Amino acid sequence: MLWEHRLTEICKENEDLSKYSTYEIGGVARFVAKPRRTEEIVLLLEQAKSSGMQTVMFGMGSNLLLPDHPDPETLYISMRDHIEVMPREDLLYVSAGTPLSLLSLFGELSGFTDYHFTFLLPGTLGGGVYMNAKYFDNVMCNFLDTVYYIDLDAPGRGIQSIKVEDCEFAYKQSIFQHRPWFITGADLKLKSEGAAFHYERIEAYLNQPFVRESIDNSSLSSFYSFYRSYLTRLEQQQLSVPEAMMNVVHDRTGKKHFDYPSCGSVFKNDYSIGTPVGKLVESIGLKGTARGNAMISPVHGNVIQNRGGAKAADVIELIKLVQDALHQNYHFVPEPELVIVK
Ligand SMILES: Cc1cc2nc3c(=O)[nH]c(=O)nc-3n(C[C@H](O)[C@H](O)[C@H](O)COP(=O)(O)OP(=O)(O)OC[C@H]3O[C@@H](n4cnc5c(N)ncnc54)[C@H](O)[C@@H]3O)c2cc1C
Repeated sequence: MLWEHRLTEICKENEDLSKYSTYEIGGVARFVAKPRRTEEIVLLLEQAKSSGMQTVMFGMGSNLLLPDHPDPETLYISMRDHIEVMPREDLLYVSAGTPLSLLSLFGELSGFTDYHFTFLLPGTLGGGVYMNAKYFDNVMCNFLDTVYYIDLDAPGRGIQSIKVEDCEFAYKQSIFQHRPWFITGADLKLKSEGAAFHYERIEAYLNQPFVRESIDNSSLSSFYSFYRSYLTRLEQQQLSVPEAMMNVVHDRTGKKHFDYPSCGSVFKNDYSIGTPVGKLVESIGLKGTARGNAMISPVHGNVIQNRGGAKAADVIELIKLVQDALHQNYHFVPEPELVIVK
């Protein structure tokens, strides 16, 4: 009874999962929980475990293919509302649901420049740690000190911690991909010299309704508009616009990242092959191939787009098609970076 009562407080029933992924794909789930505080996550995990429910957690859903027919016995947990930022001596504690891109804005508000690379990088801190997200030479693991998590096998133990050197980080890999651990937050390094940390400016920014509304959304076009408008406001106020952020705008819009719902790169590159997957796909003429309403991007061979109303099954069909074609032509089966939820 208590469980049911708490569930209705934190959970939404019969929720359309397509709102929770940048693919805008997914059927109707019986329960989607949106915890705001870490204690609520502990409670959810304990109760789900004791009632035998599976859990699937996600951040912005920017690297995730959600199912067309969600399992009614699974509790889907969106971390979107779990946003907390706190100074900790010379570190910055950031909760798992905090959007990665917000870190670049926090830096602007507070006077540190370490996180400009996260500007327009979709995803949350939790997803970024799990995937070891990167942008050119900037890799998530280089910015971490400690990661906090809950062990799904023993949620009653509460929050555990692990130092970055023990997290087995490598290209698009982390220990979290091999353990039943739910990331709740991390201490991040602040490298900028002389960075004056103005926490109150970050808090004031986060408390603005338009910021909250924008975060509660996985549409890539809204995501782009929100962050681009931040730079537009700087321009209008005749304040200096950081070159690094402007470069990101040119790079990502040039690559058409926000034109259609997608999850960015579908496959990991294998650096021993020497050629990126996108180029291999292009070389065998697969760009623009469609199945149902999903299409291999005509611009980038490693991106599969939702052209409107695509199903998870359409995307999976294209993934298999690329894997078979690359196996036939290059004797190499690319490993998906995209996490496919069954
Ligand atoms: C247009 C576009 C561009 C992109 N560009 C890049 C890029 O330049 N570099 C890059 O690295 N990636 C890129 N990505 C992929 C994506 O942004 C990253 O992988 C990001 O880190 C995913 O974060 P998320 O919160 O959306 O994770 P989700 O997609 O929600 O989840 C991904 C995985 O992480 C797990 N996870 C999420 N939160 C937690 C948690 N709290 N605890 C435990 N596990 C968790 C999920 O269970 C899932 O297995 C891009 C995606 C898009 C759509």
